[in-house]
Amino acid sequence: MIQTDIFPKNNYPFRLPPHLKNYQETYDNFNWQGANNEIVFFDNGKLNAAYNAVDRHLNSPRKDKIALIWQGATGNRQTFTFNQLAALSNQFAHLLKGKGVQKGDRVFIFLPRVPYLYASFLGILKIGSIAGLLFSAFQENALLDRLKDSGAKILITNSQLSQRMKNIRSQLPDLKEIIIIDSDNFDQELASQSGQLEIEKTDPSDYAFMLYTSGTTGKPKGVVHHHYAILSEHVTAKYVLDIHEEDIYWCTADPGWVTGIAYTILGSWSCGVTSVIYEGRFDPATWYQILADNHVSIWYTAPTAIRMLMGKEDVTPKQYDLSHLRHILSVGEPLNPEAIRWSVKQLGLPFHDNWWQTETGCICIANYPTMDIKIGSMGKPVPGIQAAIVDDQGQILPPEREGNIALKPGWPSMMKTIWQNEEKYQSYFVNDWYLTGDHGLIDNQGYFWFIGRADDVIKTSGERVGPFEVESALVEHPAVIEAGVIGKPDPVRGEIIKAFVVLEQEYLEKIKDSTYSDQLKQELSQYVKKHLAGHAYPREIEFIDKLPKTRSGKIMRRILKAKELGQPIGDTSTLEEY
Ligand code: AMP
Repeated sequence: MIQTDIFPKNNYPFRLPPHLKNYQETYDNFNWQGANNEIVFFDNGKLNAAYNAVDRHLNSPRKDKIALIWQGATGNRQTFTFNQLAALSNQFAHLLKGKGVQKGDRVFIFLPRVPYLYASFLGILKIGSIAGLLFSAFQENALLDRLKDSGAKILITNSQLSQRMKNIRSQLPDLKEIIIIDSDNFDQELASQSGQLEIEKTDPSDYAFMLYTSGTTGKPKGVVHHHYAILSEHVTAKYVLDIHEEDIYWCTADPGWVTGIAYTILGSWSCGVTSVIYEGRFDPATWYQILADNHVSIWYTAPTAIRMLMGKEDVTPKQYDLSHLRHILSVGEPLNPEAIRWSVKQLGLPFHDNWWQTETGCICIANYPTMDIKIGSMGKPVPGIQAAIVDDQGQILPPEREGNIALKPGWPSMMKTIWQNEEKYQSYFVNDWYLTGDHGLIDNQGYFWFIGRADDVIKTSGERVGPFEVESALVEHPAVIEAGVIGKPDPVRGEIIKAFVVLEQEYLEKIKDSTYSDQLKQELSQYVKKHLAGHAYPREIEFIDKLPKTRSGKIMRRILKAKELGQPIGDTSTLEEY
């Protein structure tokens, strides 16, 4: 039996009547066909996700409502109405068309959170091409893998980030042009495009956007989503985020990750909300000030950020007027029970944890204002999604038994494919269930509890990192023969990346000098940071003589992890020797 604290729904300060009035009743009666009237279709069942996010509002008083309140890293502000955002994205669409971009072409965006990121994303979808997003911390290795695999035709970036393309451009024959948004005449060129556009009427199953995500083995995979995903994103923005007309909403996620796409651009704007977007980095005082200044009422953030806020004793919520907050949510990693208790104490509201993945395209399991929160649980499946705990053969397990968190395919934002990798796509499915790669259990009342990843994928500060990518970056350094990388539990970041490194012979003598050894560790960290990504570098490095491997030569990361954590090593029968 799971023992737990409860935050009763009756203690939730309902300032607006929630959209989801009765969870069980809605869940039991929901079907996606019936939900289709939540979004706008053109004739013959065609639709466009970007039209639904923005342009649908132009036929209503929302036309002149503010869609985007943008705050730059240096404090400058800009606002865009839905009408202005529609026009700006139309101009991007024309610009791209003028460069020969066609339906199905991949156009990638590599930008910090500036308004052109959001407008160009919408413009790409409006002409039926496929938007790809690249997190601005990516360095050349990460960029090369993603741009090459996708065959991207155009890259939209800025002059600073474009420097990272210099060494790799020649290896990207499909890349026809790099658009630099802060180049001398870009603003003029964009402004000279028409603000009116005949939006592409795509099939629901036409591809809209793709995001590369990490698994355990090999390079990151291109998860592809279709236009019909907008339906799930809209419905969950309504039922889980509980977006109302009068809300001011801030989702802190970057669109380099799926939350920043589904719940800053697509589902949330489709619900017509005014969104705050902050370009800058995490900083407690700035974040609280943004919440206060903009009268943010719905705040969607992540456990690492919450833990960092909790750890700050000199800057606290009580020093700000956060009285407009009425609903707060968290996603991306396990949310510690203390975080909920902290928010209740400091903000008078519990964080509502919810769970989903790049592949699922929308929130799948959630806590709702009208349901008791079992503190520590991810909640219950959203209406329209059937979730279960299954064994490795896809057989449903009874309550309270640990197994794979699995979803029944069939909701609109389930990934359409893995880009040019049908085999990988098929590998997600067992006995008609989609296996998420996460382990968990369901309690006797149908609440889902997260236990951990079934594989070696690392979640550091909420961002998903494949160990293979980090290992590949490390072995490019002349000192390194091979490396094994794990996620090591960390009280703030959830996990940090730890690398076990086997050094070339000539370095073995040198590292006997501890100063040199520390320097080399530092150098290797920096090396990954510089070549792979600013967020995906090992914060801890340990030199070892030999990596544990299977007889077929695969690194046994679970053994490295067990050793690191002082846990039993488990079944070693497939090991080469250890
Ligand atoms: P991503 O595709 O990058 O969004 O990462 C998805 C993964 O993040 C999931 O498979 C989980 O491992 C983890 N995750 C997301 N939300 C939660 C949550 N609420 N609790 C625990 N883990 C989560």
